[in-house]
Amino acid sequence: MNKSLHKILFFLIVLIVFPIVLVVFYEYSNLNESEQLINAAYKNQLESLVSSVNTYTQDIATNWASRIEAAFHINRVGEVDPMDRLMSENQSIKDIYTIQLDNEAFRSYSSREKELPPTLNDFYIRQQSEIQQLLNYYKSNYRKIAAYGAGDQSSWFYFIVSGKNEKYYVCFVRIDNAKFFQNQLRPRIQSIAQLNFTIDLTDSKSGELLLSNEKEPNRNKPYDLTGAMWLFPETTLNIRLKNETINQLVHQRLYEGLLLFGALMLVILVGVWFLYTNIRNQIRLAQIKSEFISNVSHEIRTPLALISMYIETLEMGRVKTAEKVKEYYQIITKETQRLAGMVDKILNFSKLESGKRTLKFDICQLNEITQKVLNTYAFHLSNQGFSSTFIAADNLPHISCDADAVADALINLIENAVKYSTDKKQIEISTGKSKKYVFVEVKDFGMGISKKHQKLIFDKFYRVSNENLANKVKGTGLGLALVNETMKRHKGKIVLSSKLHEGSTFRLLFPLNSIKKP
Ligand code: ADP
Repeated sequence: MNKSLHKILFFLIVLIVFPIVLVVFYEYSNLNESEQLINAAYKNQLESLVSSVNTYTQDIATNWASRIEAAFHINRVGEVDPMDRLMSENQSIKDIYTIQLDNEAFRSYSSREKELPPTLNDFYIRQQSEIQQLLNYYKSNYRKIAAYGAGDQSSWFYFIVSGKNEKYYVCFVRIDNAKFFQNQLRPRIQSIAQLNFTIDLTDSKSGELLLSNEKEPNRNKPYDLTGAMWLFPETTLNIRLKNETINQLVHQRLYEGLLLFGALMLVILVGVWFLYTNIRNQIRLAQIKSEFISNVSHEIRTPLALISMYIETLEMGRVKTAEKVKEYYQIITKETQRLAGMVDKILNFSKLESGKRTLKFDICQLNEITQKVLNTYAFHLSNQGFSSTFIAADNLPHISCDADAVADALINLIENAVKYSTDKKQIEISTGKSKKYVFVEVKDFGMGISKKHQKLIFDKFYRVSNENLANKVKGTGLGLALVNETMKRHKGKIVLSSKLHEGSTFRLLFPLNSIKKP
């Protein structure tokens, strides 16, 4: 049996576990690749956040440029100067300067200075070719906003506007960085970041934190992405996931994946184990069934052979003395009874198991039932060289039971005690009462039962003695299954205490709540 079981186990492993291990291995080796893909997708998302902040900044600058250009076309009569309104509405604009491109006429809108500030003048001279480029763009209907950092926490946005009579101006808008970040960018960054991201603006050179959507920014955690601010060349935009870095996320995913794989493997292994034990049980059952058939056939054949042999001898008239004839008839009767007893046992069991045997419950006294059984068996026991004692408990409460079924169970136990006793041919039977039960027990000093067999012997067809061929005792493996079934029907139980080579005690316990006072 072991060989075929090992084969089955091996096939189960090859068929189920092996492909799964392969899949798990394949998935695991691909995990790195998948993580890289996730990483790339995540980086893309971060980049789109950077570009969203930049586009927003650019939209503001473009809107200002449009308003400035509009101001050049309005005839101001009794109206608030649109340039003044733009500056008062946007505290981050410090100055607006315009230079007419054809005659270099200069105008300042805040300080009303007459001269171009020297730094701006220098820059204007240096950037001639770029300004020309901006003009070309403008003429082809695209207004490009350019920028440079003034290095004193302020920046210049510059772009082309056209005035009346096809005149072109380059317009410099001086921005207070801190105010722009606070007033214009903070709400936008807050809405982009929501609860998921940390977005910090830092000084590109010193790394100083200029703006953060966090109340308590953590400067020690590394950023997942840093990007340039297109219109603030001296400022860097930094983003990371709020609670975990992408690396932590990747690792967490990896662990979760592994955990899932592990759980899956466990479930499959448990399934394989169930399948295996099921098959093992089926094989065992098939094996004990076939053993049962061979046992029973053997047991039937022996008495049949004896009976036919003695009848033949009698028929031939070879037996001379009347005494011998009587002895032969006794043997024939005994063997016939043995046969009938065995068939009864099998029929009894199948009836009881299929529920066809209905028990007739009555008020009984265990002492009385036991004594009756012993009276019938005493001769048989002493014939086989057994000494038996019966210790009956006083005042034993009555129980509700089927006296015949209980007697059958007792006989089974006594027969087993006889069959499985070795040198010490002694049987002790006693009755008693525990907290919830009334019991009768049969104790022998025979071969005993090892721990590993103690639970199994109550299964139908199960026989321990099968293993021990040298000490082969005949039996069907049905006796204890029958006793067990009878006890279940009485809502009681059978308890075994046994030690190998020392003996066994089988105790039948009947629940006290079935007791009715006679
Ligand atoms: P059978 O006696 O016909 O084999 P049972 O169901 O009565 O079937 O018993 C099952 C097995 O339990 C027996 O084969 C035997 O190995 C073991 N057994 C039962 N009673 C005893 C006992 N008193 N001492 C030792 N072994 C026992």
